Amino acid sequence: MQQILVVDDELEHLNALCELLQGGGYQVLRTSRPERALAIAESQRPDLVITDWDMPGLSGIELIRQLKAHAATRDIPVIMCTGSMTTAAHLETALEAGAVDYVRKPVEPIELRARTRSMLQLAASYRQIQAKEQELARQNELLNQQKQELHQAAITDRLTGLHNRAYLMDQLSREFSNSRRYGRPLSCLLLDIDHFKSVNDRHGHLVGDAVLRHTAQLLSRGLRRGDVLARYGGEEFVLLLPGTPAASAQALAESLRASVAQAVWAQGELSLQLTLSIGVADNLADQTADETALLRHADAALYAAKHQGRNRVVVHG
Ligand code: GH3
Ligand code: MG
Ligand code: MG
Repeated sequence: MQQILVVDDELEHLNALCELLQGGGYQVLRTSRPERALAIAESQRPDLVITDWDMPGLSGIELIRQLKAHAATRDIPVIMCTGSMTTAAHLETALEAGAVDYVRKPVEPIELRARTRSMLQLAASYRQIQAKEQELARQNELLNQQKQELHQAAITDRLTGLHNRAYLMDQLSREFSNSRRYGRPLSCLLLDIDHFKSVNDRHGHLVGDAVLRHTAQLLSRGLRRGDVLARYGGEEFVLLLPGTPAASAQALAESLRASVAQAVWAQGELSLQLTLSIGVADNLADQTADETALLRHADAALYAAKHQGRNRVVVHG
């Protein structure tokens, strides 16, 4: 049942109004002390407030302002009901304070019920719209979150959690043109696990997968902001180092090689040590016309590292 709070300091008026509303099938809360009305409205959340204007202690206008100032009561519609403040200027003041309607005393029962009904309907549709808006905002947030997750999944390698090849190729192209535009060096490391096939062959694919994850973790340590580490494919990784020439990249490659060579991967009885071969190239070398040439040069250097006996770093050119 819909609930209406009636505020009037004159008991005779208060009772008459309440009876009238109860006769209309509404549940009625009442007070003759306007300073109590705010607390009642806050705790009971009536669907509508009908208030007198001229009251000692707190005027109807002041009560409306206070109701509008509190988040909990802001949306409760208020009808101003007065016998003395009946000029157009009064009407304007009441509406400006936040009243939705204005009824003159003595109250005409049919008029009061009609206005009460339409204000309650208005308030109900307002609440419905608000609830729909909230639901829409929630769905929108969920969609954005899903979009974000999808994007993340599209650029991530599932096995290692590193960036995937698609993301790498985008970044390579971006970093290559940025470096060229600003005349900065860009290095590319191609890192390949040595004799990885034999890990699979001897210990099975699951151990091979675990070893790939382990290697990815080792390579991730000590990355700087702006570095891009990705799984290029199989047991090959690429590390892009914007702002770094081959000579410095070589030192970093050497420390990565050493840290992988020293690390031990263990599971139960089984423990394995791996090595990496690493090819290094930068964009400063002759004939590094585009990003594919940079990758090609790193690949040639990697091939040389394998050829020279693996577990080593070779710089292109
Ligand atoms: P090299 O020292 O010359 O690099 O020898 P290699 O054995 O490491 O290289 P090769 O290219 O012959 O073999 C790579 C192996 O990596 C073959 C393939 O089955 C395995 N591999 C590729 N992707 C995955 C993967 O996601 N999981 C596992 N467990 N193995 C993979
Ligand atoms: Mg290999
Ligand atoms: Mg390989």
